[in-house]
Amino acid sequence: MDENHPDGFLRHPREPIGKRDPRERIGDHREIYAPSWREDHLRQQGERCMDCGVPTCMGGCPIGNLIPEWNDLVYRGHWREALARLHATNNFPEFTGYTCPAPCEPACTLAYNADAVAIKSLERAIVDRGWERGWIRPEPPSRRSGKRVAVVGSGPAGLACAQQLNRAGHAVTVFERDEALGGLMTLGIPDFKFAKHQVERRLDQLREEGIEFRTGVEIGPAMSLARLRERFDAVCLAIGAQQHREVTVPGRELRGIHFGMPYLTAENRRQAGRDSLAIDARDKRVVVLGGGDTGADCVATAHRQGALDVAQISVREQPPMTRPADNPWPWQPRTYEQTYALEEGGRALFALNVTAFVDDDEDGAVDALVVERVKWTLDSQGRRVDKTVLEEDIRIAADLVLIAIGFQGAQAQAFVDQGLTLADNGGLATDETMMTDLDGVFASGDARRGASLVVWAIGEGRDVARHIDTYLMGASRLPPSLQTLTPPTDD
Ligand SMILES: Cc1cc2nc3c(=O)[nH]c(=O)nc-3n(C[C@H](O)[C@H](O)[C@H](O)COP(=O)(O)OP(=O)(O)OC[C@H]3O[C@@H](n4cnc5c(N)ncnc54)[C@H](O)[C@@H]3O)c2cc1C
Ligand code: SF4
Repeated sequence: MDENHPDGFLRHPREPIGKRDPRERIGDHREIYAPSWREDHLRQQGERCMDCGVPTCMGGCPIGNLIPEWNDLVYRGHWREALARLHATNNFPEFTGYTCPAPCEPACTLAYNADAVAIKSLERAIVDRGWERGWIRPEPPSRRSGKRVAVVGSGPAGLACAQQLNRAGHAVTVFERDEALGGLMTLGIPDFKFAKHQVERRLDQLREEGIEFRTGVEIGPAMSLARLRERFDAVCLAIGAQQHREVTVPGRELRGIHFGMPYLTAENRRQAGRDSLAIDARDKRVVVLGGGDTGADCVATAHRQGALDVAQISVREQPPMTRPADNPWPWQPRTYEQTYALEEGGRALFALNVTAFVDDDEDGAVDALVVERVKWTLDSQGRRVDKTVLEEDIRIAADLVLIAIGFQGAQAQAFVDQGLTLADNGGLATDETMMTDLDGVFASGDARRGASLVVWAIGEGRDVARHIDTYLMGASRLPPSLQTLTPPTDD
């Protein structure tokens, strides 16, 4: 074996972990990914990393994962050490190894003019092996601080914050309003994208480390922040950003028009055996509004439920297939990439703006959408500022419409009533230590950043834990994440 491997990428083509055949996977709710590959194949993929002087991939990763280090450790077959390096920056590498859109990969030096290292696949392979071999075990603290912290919300931000604070010796209780723990990892993202046993085994680890979980408790209405502060030395609000964005056009009140999130949540509950089918796409013409993650998951769920036809409408124009001149490497590419959901079928329609929902037979249920074809004028940030209508009154038949056009902030009215303020993004406003307007009450994850990604939520959870530890103890030995917007400092 070569000691160094600056030319591994010349000998081995990029081969990320693949997905199962769309025709097969559409018939079940099992994960869409193929099983991992052979040892020698994995090591060759690690060998493709050049260990560049400036690891631009780490700049692409929101938590600054130590990517070249674990690539090299995989190449050498030192899997356990690779797992330790992965956990150094990320509490739950399987959450990201399965669901992250991998902004690290277009930032990889090889992506300048060749195929990037299969970073996300290696991350997944390392953590999969860690679980298979029993290397991931509870790590309870050796000493307790005597301080008590309440974490509100059990999504990736809340769980990362809880694990970090518990490891720093504080007694942590997580409050969750739902019956299930895991936030959107459990009740938003479908099983076929992330199987729920993966959340459960992490929760087991957290419980064995000493974290207490209380489900079915909605903080705010049921228990005020003031009461929580009396019982705990600090509070972290990691309540997500699940306030839906609405489509305000005539006909919105018709039957058969739903938000995408309750649709996905109902299917997740059904898969877990906790609910019957609330909204069923079987034999229906389904139209999904919104081109993002939630929209893609609605498309894929509708196919699995036996929809007759699925169209996904985006108000934006179709992005170019290759990078435009003003979007060079290593910036995140603004190019078109087919989603896993559309690989399985369905039509993607772009640059269509909905103007009405119609009920032709006057039975109170939606029969069609009316849309206009538009062209947008964008500002320098790529935001839509003005539209030109190219064609009006286009009809698209629909028996079921799923609205998945994004979220407009945290469901935080109860907290606003108790003295917290909201930022422009609809999230909870905080100072540079992630503390809200109330002393000792912090916020993190989507609740603060606005709807984002799992990897950002984990980073925010790690950062807020460090701030809370500093608030409680005067200093903290918890590591900060490297890239989040409010990186904690030592002063
Ligand atoms: C359908 C869908 C698919 C997605 N797919 C991806 C993907 O593929 N990759 C990716 O990186 N990201 C994806 N995301 C985004 C990702 O899931 C979120 O960014 C991430 O889960 C945010 O984590 P969080 O901990 O901040 O909040 P959440 O995961 O939203 O968790 C917040 C938790 O707080 C609880 N809560 C709220 N209010 C209260 C209260 N008052 N009292 C007690 N509990 C409360 C909620 O019930 C929830 O459990 C997806 C999002 C959606 C909706
Ligand atoms: S967390 Fe996401 S961005 Fe970071 S290394 Fe993993 S796949 Fe890449």
